[in-house]
Amino acid sequence: MKYDIAVLPGDGIGPEVTEEALGVLEAVGKKFGLEFSIKKALLGGCAIDATGHPLPPETLELCRSSSAVLLGAVGGAKWDNLPGNMRPEAGLLGIRAGLGLFANLRPAVIYPALKDASPLRSDIIKDGIDILVVRELTGGMYFGKKGRYETENEGTAAFDTEVYSTQEIRRIARVAFEAARKRKKKVTSVDKANVLESSRLWREVVTVVAKDYPDVELNHMYVDNAAMQLIRCPEQFDVIVTSNMFGDILSDEASMITGSIGMLPSASLGDGTFGLYEPVHGSAPDIAGQDKANPIATILSVGMMMKYSFGLDDAAKEIEDAVSKVLEKGYRTADIASEGTRIVGTKEMGRLIREAISG
Ligand code: NAD
Repeated sequence: MKYDIAVLPGDGIGPEVTEEALGVLEAVGKKFGLEFSIKKALLGGCAIDATGHPLPPETLELCRSSSAVLLGAVGGAKWDNLPGNMRPEAGLLGIRAGLGLFANLRPAVIYPALKDASPLRSDIIKDGIDILVVRELTGGMYFGKKGRYETENEGTAAFDTEVYSTQEIRRIARVAFEAARKRKKKVTSVDKANVLESSRLWREVVTVVAKDYPDVELNHMYVDNAAMQLIRCPEQFDVIVTSNMFGDILSDEASMITGSIGMLPSASLGDGTFGLYEPVHGSAPDIAGQDKANPIATILSVGMMMKYSFGLDDAAKEIEDAVSKVLEKGYRTADIASEGTRIVGTKEMGRLIREAISG
């Protein structure tokens, strides 16, 4: 079987980290006898320079005809003064919307070798942390009716509306339960059902969906408690599923407890197995072109692609294990370095991980 992958390296460190991730993809292909067809396209600032638009129609077309998309990062000072809809970030929003991606998956993993990078105490981290936040991406308050109106005595008022339909909740819940099946088989659904009607529907629908997954344990948690529990006892979580706004906040909180932005991959999924995979970090113009960027977030994004778009769980595990092995040997890019470790550049880190796969 051949897998078609669209690759959008983007700007800043995007091309550097993407190059290493493609090297890892090649190594995994060799090891498991898989054939990947790679086609590159422009997105972000580089697309503005070449075509005058951050998301050229041919880029969107290529993504739509592919099985999965790997994205580096976009943006940079050069394009900061352009109007909003012509900035590199507009390309990013356009591609997410244009591909119908409704689920955002962000793993927060603390590798035992990187315990020191976390702001949490080691007695809280214990043997490492591995949480997956599944955030609904196209509904809720960010997309509900909003507006302003004048009141008689209290000045201007403004409102935003949290709206979720049964169908929207059902499809994101399914993504979470399917993901949990590939992990520790536990879903925590986060809501505010003690106050919000939309959360009460959320809780009802998730509970019904859970009946199709008797092998997965479900519990419900209020969002304020979840924010606290992530810091107090993160090991209790496997998969967290939640709305757009709660997920926006909790996924950043969960990321921070890992301690390094250069280590965090993400996936955005639509219907079926199609997905867009990208590191959580941006284009890091401050270190671009200096062989300093950590390529691990992008390499782990390729791992997520293997798992969620292609069902190649062995290949995904091979990539994750290769990253762990290299970290355990003491190799670090500068962003995750600590005393007694060996600092390597972007290319060398990529080479070491490739070697751990083929070796
Ligand atoms: P950033 O994530 O690019 O950088 C924040 C800090 O983290 C910087 O000090 C950077 O050097 C460091 N960093 C980030 N990734 C790293 C890596 N892989 N290895 C080592 N260090 C790393 O965020 P920013 O500085 O706020 O934004 C820079 C540009 O990126 C802006 O134009 C912004 O709009 C854009 N951006 C793009 C995306 C995306 O493409 N998804 C996301 C966030 C920001």
